Amino acid sequence: MQYPFRTVSVVLTFLVFILSLFIGCESAEETRVSYSIPEQPEMSTGYTEKPGWVTNEFAVAAANPLATDAGYQIIQAGGSAVDAAIAVQMVLTLVEPQSSGIGGGAFLLNWDGEQVYAYNGRETAPAAADENHFLDENGETMPFRDAVRSGKSVGVPGTLAMLKQAHDRHGVLPWQDLFEPAITLAENGFKVSPRLNQLLVGEDAFRNDDIAAQFYYDENNEARSVGFELKNPALAEILRRVANEGIDAFYQSEVAENIVERIQSHERPGNMTVEDINNYPVQDFETRALCNDWKNYQICGFPPPSSGHIAIMQMLGIMEHLDETEIDFEDGLMTADWLHNYFEAAKLAFADRAKYIGDWDFVDAPTGDWNSLMDPAYLAERAALIGEQSMGIAEPGNPRGAQAMLGVQPYQPESGTTHISIVDREGNAVSMTATIESGFGSRIMSDGGTGLPGGFILNNELTDFSLSPVDEDGNPMANRVEPNKRPRSSMSPSLVFDRESGDILASVGSPGGAAIIHYTAKAIVGMYDWNLNAQDAINLPNFANFNGASVLEEERFPADLIEALRARGHEVTERALTSGLQAIQVIEDGYYGGADPRREGVVMGQ
Ligand code: GLU
Repeated sequence: MQYPFRTVSVVLTFLVFILSLFIGCESAEETRVSYSIPEQPEMSTGYTEKPGWVTNEFAVAAANPLATDAGYQIIQAGGSAVDAAIAVQMVLTLVEPQSSGIGGGAFLLNWDGEQVYAYNGRETAPAAADENHFLDENGETMPFRDAVRSGKSVGVPGTLAMLKQAHDRHGVLPWQDLFEPAITLAENGFKVSPRLNQLLVGEDAFRNDDIAAQFYYDENNEARSVGFELKNPALAEILRRVANEGIDAFYQSEVAENIVERIQSHERPGNMTVEDINNYPVQDFETRALCNDWKNYQICGFPPPSSGHIAIMQMLGIMEHLDETEIDFEDGLMTADWLHNYFEAAKLAFADRAKYIGDWDFVDAPTGDWNSLMDPAYLAERAALIGEQSMGIAEPGNPRGAQAMLGVQPYQPESGTTHISIVDREGNAVSMTATIESGFGSRIMSDGGTGLPGGFILNNELTDFSLSPVDEDGNPMANRVEPNKRPRSSMSPSLVFDRESGDILASVGSPGGAAIIHYTAKAIVGMYDWNLNAQDAINLPNFANFNGASVLEEERFPADLIEALRARGHEVTERALTSGLQAIQVIEDGYYGGADPRREGVVMGQ
């Protein structure tokens, strides 16, 4: 089972290789990547069945076929998983601009065969930001929508600086070669995908940005149509400079000045300065992955500012303490009993998340250790709160007796983001989730000061902070805005290992706001509790609970299951839960890759 691009790329790569032999060795020495543009079929959006992909030597999974192909070609040229991730991310900036890019942030995990490295490229608040950042002159929080669509929501972009550090350590190919696919596509044009088109059609605020209005819309204010050949000269120019001159061409340059100008000239301006951007790369992006046991597995994920790994491990850990005699999974579907337990465990995890999780450079872990939230004894205590009937709303707990005077942050919407999973020929595995927060981020574009059409989108990551600095009783929120702080995230790039042998088993993750936590948990349980392959696990219907209503993916669950949940006291709602899971599993003699049928992702490999 292979994606047809693969065959095309293999043939093209081979032809280019043969040609280069005739042309002489010089150009081969200049760049080891001879990027060739693959065929670009138009894919339907909505729910598109994916075949699941078996490969032998390596695998790349990303949310857009052109991005996957770029990673594929980089590994073909001898690149590492991190090299491929960089090329994939640059192409995603171009072809899936609504979800991630150089104007945003990312978390990257890399397994090098011995150790898990974690790189934190989360956006930061400007130095001048304080806890009143999202309050109006009367001290009231701004309407969330206005806060998102403003210069105030933009955090200092982190993706490029973080990737540079990851490349310094894990890169094999030269930095500039990794930009070749994105620059070529930006110059030659790519076909607007159905998903990009649909999201552009549905957007209002993005049309108010003068750069976006001229670039993503035509003179009649119509979104660029599916298949429209879109070139992005501004992005090509910026990427060429970053490729040749390094990240200073972004962080210490007119690109930084232009970002600030765009933010400050917005009708709701932000207070980011050029100095904030200049200072961003002066930090160590490496952080400590959290690795925790679950059944026969060890799962590694991101520490705070992400809440993702802790919440997933809390839910899975709590579930381990619940009645094992019940049937979990029957006829290809999780049972109402299992969902009841899961939703209750989710409420408990989300209650703790709302209280405790914030950037760990600013917020103390309960009792000084984030693992306290995942202690088996604490999770047993939490599991004991789960009964036959729904508990309604859960309260945060006191891990290891912690008594923190912190507020409980109410739910705030999040949506956007992309996930990349890669395993290279050496067995190095990347799990990287990247974001500009909501679809089209802050709805502000920057052309990097090039004056050319196009450019990149600035994130709205700062609305991942609690807009209000305190709760109703005046207790401070762990996730309030503070200068140079990173907003809390739900992104959950994960690597799964065999607990006994230490062998890597899978790389997995998803976009989807706070529901990322549920999507990723579902895929892990599907693969390792219910023994499904990655594709079948991803295909399973989605479900979520953020400490309130139990949400089911619409039209995927039978009426009797919904009734059974209601009978146990759940407020059940149905809606689209558009995950964008990507997963690569290690199987005998190779890899099995899955991509979410709800988005445009594919897997390629050899
Ligand atoms: N900004 C969100 C986070 O970091 C992700 C948004 C999304 O996936 O939709 O958790």
